[in-house]
Amino acid sequence: MTIGIAILGSTGSIGQSTLGVLARHRERFRVVALTAYRNAELLRAQADEWRPAYVGLVNGGKGEVGRGKGGGTACLVEAATHPEAGIVVNGIVGAAGLEATLAALRAGKRVALANKETLVMAGELVTRTAREGQGEIVPVDSEHSAVLQCLAGRPATDVSRLVLTASGGPFRTWDPGRIAQATVEQALRHPTWSMGRKITVDSATLVNKALEVIEAHFLFDLAYDQVDVVVHPQSVIHALVELVDGSVLAQLGFPNMELPILYALTHPERVADTGPKRFDAVAAGSLTFEAVSMERFPAYSLGRAAGVAGGTAPAVFNAANEIAVQAFLEGRIEFGRIAEVIDRVLAEHTPSAATTLEAVLEADAAGRRVAWEAVC
Ligand code: NAD
Ligand code: MG
Repeated sequence: MTIGIAILGSTGSIGQSTLGVLARHRERFRVVALTAYRNAELLRAQADEWRPAYVGLVNGGKGEVGRGKGGGTACLVEAATHPEAGIVVNGIVGAAGLEATLAALRAGKRVALANKETLVMAGELVTRTAREGQGEIVPVDSEHSAVLQCLAGRPATDVSRLVLTASGGPFRTWDPGRIAQATVEQALRHPTWSMGRKITVDSATLVNKALEVIEAHFLFDLAYDQVDVVVHPQSVIHALVELVDGSVLAQLGFPNMELPILYALTHPERVADTGPKRFDAVAAGSLTFEAVSMERFPAYSLGRAAGVAGGTAPAVFNAANEIAVQAFLEGRIEFGRIAEVIDRVLAEHTPSAATTLEAVLEADAAGRRVAWEAVC
């Protein structure tokens, strides 16, 4: 029996890598649903190759993609709860992935979660929904996959601290004044990973690492002072797990998302794979580490503080960042303003409980509104 896979955001970087993994494991998995935002051409090509039972295009004309089709945001929930899907890969970028994650968990599915914004916005709600629906969240994010692999079933009480690694992005060694003026092209030139535009900008501001700290807090049920970050420019060690006796475990590999994606599908089992280039310690050479520069990456501290503040603060942090990044990518604000916009939006927000979808969506909308005013 093969396991049915639904891929949300199949036309994106994570979506395409997932199909790359599945192409090598057709005896184990089959594609039952695919969704994309508006790239109808690529979605149709994927549908022709994989023949899923369901295809959904969020922002396109109805009937564009063929059999078992859906449109509008409803198609995300339809794909995420498809009766033939055992695993839902959420490769959507941003807040748009939240409702589908919740629906899949409520339906008792495993969610292979790349869409970290979902956990950041609504960590309490998402983890509770997983418990109540008997669904399961397995991280695709490489650092969190590394932690899960190091934990290998150990309880949270065995862990004293996690250390997530960060490449440091393209501006790791730049002067803060020069970073503030960085162009879109410079921000999109990531040194070690090839990813979608939004997460690439998040890696340049280190907002991505703040999102990941919050993601780790909710995924592994650890306090914020147990989740550290270290800059590791080679991106070979993906995370470190320090156990209570002081032993430190690490997971290594050349940067490639196909391993964390495959592991999210097979966890806790391992299956033989021929995909990503095998690790070679001599080829990797020196592995170096340095502290995160708070001067260069002010948005990182803002995100951590929002995590510690809790409640609706992480949702507002995420909303402000999404608007600021979009404005930067559209050439409407300078790179340095991304952190300023986030700072202003968080300063105007008084956190409240984020235990219902309504409360989360309201905080998200309010954060976006204030951020829009700040970027106009
Ligand atoms: P991407 O921009 O390449 O792809 C995004 C996908 O989401 C596309 O398929 C697009 O059609 C879909 N999408 C966008 N807006 C949508 C909307 N409003 N409704 C429905 N679908 C929508 O991004 P990516 O790099 O693949 O990243 C996807 C997610 O995975 C992000 O949350 C990112 O942080 C996370 N992630 C990515 C990587 C990576 O290597 N790319 C690594 C770790 C985590
Ligand atoms: Mg990551």
